[in-house]
Amino acid sequence: MPTTVINISNRLPVTVAEKITKSSGGLVAALEGLSPDEYDLKWIGWPGAAIADAVRQQEVAGILEEEHGCIPVFLSEEEVAGHYEGFSNSSVWPLLHYMPNYMHYDSAWWDHYETVNQRFADKVLEMAHPGDLVWVHDYQLMLMPAMLHERMPELKIGFFLHTPFPSFETFRCHPKRRELVAGMLGANLIGFHTFGYMRHFRSSVLRLLGLESEITRIRIDESHVSALGVFPIGINSRKFDETLDTPEFAQRRDEFLHANASKRVVLSVERMDYTKGILHRLDAIEEFLSELDASERDAIKFIFVSVPSREEVEEYQELRAETEARVGRINGQYATLNSSPIRFIHGSVDFTDLCALYATADVGMVTPLIDGMNLVAKEYIACQREHDGVLILSEFAGAAEELSNAMLVNPYDARAVAQTLVEALALSDEEKRACNQPMRDRVMKYDAQHWARTFIGQLGSTSSGTMALFEPAERAAEQLRDALLHHKRIALFLDYDGTLREIERDARAAKPTAEVMALIDLLQERENVELTIISGRTAEDLEGWFGERDIGLVAEHGAAVRRVGTRDWEQLDRNVSYGWKDEVRGVLRLYEQSTPGSSVEEKRTSLVWHHRKTDPEFGTWKANELMHELGTMLANEPVKIRHGRKIVEVTAEQVSKGIAVRRLLSEKHPGFMLCAGDDQTDESMFEIEAASFVAAAADFVSIKVGNQPSRACFHLRDPATFRKFLTDNFAPTAKLVTDGSKAAATL
Ligand code: UDP
Repeated sequence: MPTTVINISNRLPVTVAEKITKSSGGLVAALEGLSPDEYDLKWIGWPGAAIADAVRQQEVAGILEEEHGCIPVFLSEEEVAGHYEGFSNSSVWPLLHYMPNYMHYDSAWWDHYETVNQRFADKVLEMAHPGDLVWVHDYQLMLMPAMLHERMPELKIGFFLHTPFPSFETFRCHPKRRELVAGMLGANLIGFHTFGYMRHFRSSVLRLLGLESEITRIRIDESHVSALGVFPIGINSRKFDETLDTPEFAQRRDEFLHANASKRVVLSVERMDYTKGILHRLDAIEEFLSELDASERDAIKFIFVSVPSREEVEEYQELRAETEARVGRINGQYATLNSSPIRFIHGSVDFTDLCALYATADVGMVTPLIDGMNLVAKEYIACQREHDGVLILSEFAGAAEELSNAMLVNPYDARAVAQTLVEALALSDEEKRACNQPMRDRVMKYDAQHWARTFIGQLGSTSSGTMALFEPAERAAEQLRDALLHHKRIALFLDYDGTLREIERDARAAKPTAEVMALIDLLQERENVELTIISGRTAEDLEGWFGERDIGLVAEHGAAVRRVGTRDWEQLDRNVSYGWKDEVRGVLRLYEQSTPGSSVEEKRTSLVWHHRKTDPEFGTWKANELMHELGTMLANEPVKIRHGRKIVEVTAEQVSKGIAVRRLLSEKHPGFMLCAGDDQTDESMFEIEAASFVAAAADFVSIKVGNQPSRACFHLRDPATFRKFLTDNFAPTAKLVTDGSKAAATL
């Protein structure tokens, strides 16, 4: 049975006029690479025409589906204006291309963007089944992956961004920056053209959503991971090769060669878009022409094919007017009686003509200011089969990573681009061939079909959201309920920050809430339960919050203890040496100084450098450096150094939560114990089980709150989930079940 692939792009590859015709875009060609024996392909998108009449909609939908395998989502003119022209092209597109000065934002567009993404998602959900592969394309549909994942987590959802992803500093300008990255993270696989775009995306995810990532994965929660990948798109190489073999091509090529027999031709092909660097290129051309005499000018011809684009957007209208004015001025200034230097075509050319232009131009001048990939550069190379021209390529095009043999330029440097043009025109045929051959091999091999096969192949091998990564907490609940029934002494050792209570940016703000206090009271109600809160906080903090309650308190990661049933604190670290503190304090202060937002905290048993409020990447980088420095400095000291959650901590070796718990257990052994914690300091408690201190595994439940790796047997997502876990198992309803056996429990 072939696997269903549902492909979604903003625009269906069709033209709906009186007749409906299928167009042959790059994506259509790419998807032809998916074998029909293996994949059953369906395509969802907007058909490109506003059809309001319901009867006509049905008629068009029928033809599209039956004849072309396309399922239309009909949009009103208003929706297209808000979603596509407004939100997508006037706000997201400029930012993705590092051009906030071209950005407009109207908050009404957001509703259209959300609605249209939802309409597309609904269409997918109408037809999708668990396990289907869903491939969402591009910046117009960034919210769709999360919408789909939420409703059907068993889908394998891929998202490919065809544009660059900019640095956080640019992306953060967007009013809906968080929603956009969160939307993308619904995908199981997110693809980019280059590693650089992927790196920027990870940085935005960290800064906007606080989610750490590995190079190619971001864990969203226990059941969902977004894999990231680099998939540089290719061209429809076979189509180019086949066209170069046709007699029509040979005829047009010969006509061009004849028409330009006495000239060197420099060709530029692009959509009329401000990202393509048209005006900057004209600067370079002007610079180049200014150095030539009239006869030299007669021997050169610049051809611009400028395909009309987004003509309803104001900036594009302005760009066209300015380009035409500049071209007119340059032609006026540098024309001779025989020729004018620039032939400017505002329109598109037929495919065979395009191949003939590529195959006869001495230079392909592709100088975008920024471009996700740029297919024209690859197409020009594909057409250097019998002929050898030179590709001048902007280093800011994604294609520059693969086409490194091209003459790479900085399009902002008009003088250097003009100079490169001079050099390009002077290259010998051998030199050109030596450069082009390896690039052509690559372009022909890694074509559009290869790109689609690779992406879909990887998407198919991702795991969709049904897999639980950790042992389900129900087993922990069962063990706990069983213990409440059968053991006469149950010890609970619960960490506070990040376990019972959510972490706050400012630790002083993380006081116990009424809910936490009520939970503590609930736990205490049980006669057979002894609760100890075990924390890195000071004894003063714990005493201030919980002093009135008859519970155990362990402060400063095990340095001081107030046992259940007593009011006195005992220092457990009387024989511990703290001689290392002065030197460590000095180093931490230096890091505090050089890392804005960081701070040093001094506790009795430890010194801590906090970097939660720093720039997240800089903070982590400095923390790694600090770890290294402390490791060397303290090699022979009785300390432990660790990089915890946004902290670097140096602690006396003889003090730990694990040591404190062992001590309390040795004084009074419970029948059953439960330890819970959220960070590294809690691992020493979880290790107790490994050390077989408690005889049978069933007598011990350890719970890690959070999804980082841990020695604990069970994981619960966050403090709220942990509180619910306790409430559910200790609540009066749970108690009813156990009440009947109270006699047994207290025996
Ligand atoms: N192209 C076209 N008609 C033309 C000239 C060019 O369809 O008259 C095609 C060109 O062959 C290329 C695409 O337009 O495949 C432009 O893709 P590119 O990646 O260079 O830029 P984008 O338009 O996607 O920003």
